[in-house]
Amino acid sequence: MNTPLKDSTQMRWDPILKIWTIVSPERGKRPGTFIPPVPDNPPQADGEICPFCHHSEISQGNVIYQAADPEKEYPWFVKVVPNRYPVFRIEGTVKRWNEGLYDIVEGVGAHEIVIDTPTCDLQFADISIKRRAEVLKAYRARILDLKKDVRFRHILIFKNHGSRAGAAMYHSHTQIVALPERPLNLQTMLSTSRDHFNRKERCLFCDVLRQERDGASRVVFEDDVYTAFVPFASSHPFELMVIPRRHAHDFSLSTDEELYSLSRVLGNVLQRLNKTLRNPPYNFVLITAPPQSPKLTRPDYWNSIEQDFHWHIRITPRITFNAGFEWGTGFSINPVRPEDAAAHLRNVRLIPE
Ligand SMILES: [Zn+2]
Ligand SMILES: [Zn+2]
Repeated sequence: MNTPLKDSTQMRWDPILKIWTIVSPERGKRPGTFIPPVPDNPPQADGEICPFCHHSEISQGNVIYQAADPEKEYPWFVKVVPNRYPVFRIEGTVKRWNEGLYDIVEGVGAHEIVIDTPTCDLQFADISIKRRAEVLKAYRARILDLKKDVRFRHILIFKNHGSRAGAAMYHSHTQIVALPERPLNLQTMLSTSRDHFNRKERCLFCDVLRQERDGASRVVFEDDVYTAFVPFASSHPFELMVIPRRHAHDFSLSTDEELYSLSRVLGNVLQRLNKTLRNPPYNFVLITAPPQSPKLTRPDYWNSIEQDFHWHIRITPRITFNAGFEWGTGFSINPVRPEDAAAHLRNVRLIPE
């Protein structure tokens, strides 16, 4: 095997997303290079006026889901409410038509906000394992409920932390969007994993995970249930994938014990990111098997989904920007070797909970 020079620029192929990333350590130095020069969070609202704090009107209004505080300090710990400014509206039917070459879908969907914590002082990364497990249970409950609606073809769960990651509110929250169409990158993942399974009768993600655990140079942390690693062809520095070690296609089938373990692993890796990059803005996306509405044109479309797809979470710190080269080519340039990012994150010392 050829051993590449440690500082050489490489093009790396991501077999899941089918994209190339350019890893160029020449362009990055120490992790401190990427720490934002100014505080990056939206301003913290006064607890009296923050719409998500436990005494506000919104958090007491139209509640879709609610969980008690396992530590009994607050009247509730997690709430799910409708988004006041939804991308899609819930009422109506999905209409599909075309104007000449152009296909149009007039969408309905759901757009909900998970209020992760009852006060502005508590961030998702720092709350106790028990409390964060309640947030994960809220994701599970909402996916199970939204999957019953046959109009929805994908349920996206994501978190924007910090202004540069798109957060408009300081208060820790997650967004849930049910969509009438499957996004392109999900379709790519579904078809690459199905192709891999058809050729090899193995799950692509299980194969990637096995290779990462064998090599271990990009593994950051793991327990008996989940592994967190920096993907080989990460398009952003310090990107992380968190994935169940046992094959599982659907997050919403996770047990309470599994979600407790996931809460511990997420807390661990987010705290490592926060210590390494001083509380960076980040995006968090949960990718799970979509609702399997029957396809009239391809009745066997979902036949192998339980074997070929594997749910996972991607956490992407937003510490670099796309500029002309990235837009012009579609290639990302990652200035930190994924192996170096993983080593930095592994070396962080955490105080065990
Ligand atoms: Zn608040
Ligand atoms: Zn798998």
